[in-house]
Amino acid sequence: MSTPPEVLFDRYFHAQTPSMQQIYQGKDDLECLEIPGLKEILLRLQQGLNFALANEREVPEHRSHPPFHFDYIRSSLSNAIAFRHDGYSFIGVTIPLIETLMTLCGRLSRSIDLLSLLGLDAAEDISDGLGLVLFHIAIFFIVSHEYTHIVHGHSVMGFEGSTLRHEIHDDGYAGGLSEQALEADADSYAIYHIMGNWIAGVERSEGLTVLNRNTISLADQDDLLFSLVVVAIGAYFMLRPVPQLDAESVYKLSHPPQAARLNSLMDTAIAWCRQNRGDLAQRMTEQWFNRLLSHVASAIWEANDSRHQNWMQQVDFLRSADGAEYLGKLRTDRDQYRASL
Ligand SMILES: [Zn+2]
Repeated sequence: MSTPPEVLFDRYFHAQTPSMQQIYQGKDDLECLEIPGLKEILLRLQQGLNFALANEREVPEHRSHPPFHFDYIRSSLSNAIAFRHDGYSFIGVTIPLIETLMTLCGRLSRSIDLLSLLGLDAAEDISDGLGLVLFHIAIFFIVSHEYTHIVHGHSVMGFEGSTLRHEIHDDGYAGGLSEQALEADADSYAIYHIMGNWIAGVERSEGLTVLNRNTISLADQDDLLFSLVVVAIGAYFMLRPVPQLDAESVYKLSHPPQAARLNSLMDTAIAWCRQNRGDLAQRMTEQWFNRLLSHVASAIWEANDSRHQNWMQQVDFLRSADGAEYLGKLRTDRDQYRASL
């Protein structure tokens, strides 16, 4: 009988160096979660993700890879990782990342300003529903991003056949433009799947039901769902440190700065809208996008938080000539990589 993937997943971490084992301690059995009801949510989520990953479509641009398994990691660090091992492509998210996201989405869902901006009732069940929908979108985005690292063959040195990037923490590792282009590619492919699933696919109906928005017009439903995608992904990006940028330092980051990641993935989201949903693209104006993000920032950060100021500085930098040059190079590298698949 073959060994189940969750056992191989657990063994992988136990075979790492002692310092690595201190950070990644193995598969998490979800017995010690602090948030009530979270275990059931996570088990359902895992089942849904593994079902979706098992029904992967054949795509000519995908590099060949073994079947997927998604699981949770007991760890001291917030992170999401993708690696290939013993006949499987594994995607793992650590429990600290899950708990941080859950807390963050809970905070957003209780913001009266955000509920009102989204046209949602400030009732307890709607607020709870909003927290869950945002959490689901963020986790699907994270998993789709890691999935892309595998199916687009973004391998780096380190673990054999693996990508063990620090998706949240800044470990001081100096990256480069080509690495950033792979992260932008992962974001772009991830948002493409999110748009397809949430606006035109299997997740749409449940999202609208928990928010009690089944009876509004289709266009209003699309607007709401697209706005929720922006809020969830914007919130997730706020977990990473927000560096101040200049024409030199921007090229040394491991991931593009947040404002550039959003810029790059919105290109793909808007292109998806043009193909599938006509004028939804025009309704997601820059002004509306900025309003959503500024509500997210004020729900998550104190007004005097330096990350808030650094984010605004990033936006200003990307509008400068140096910033535009950087964005152009990032886009070119990302598109060249995609064309090479
Ligand atoms: Zn990544």
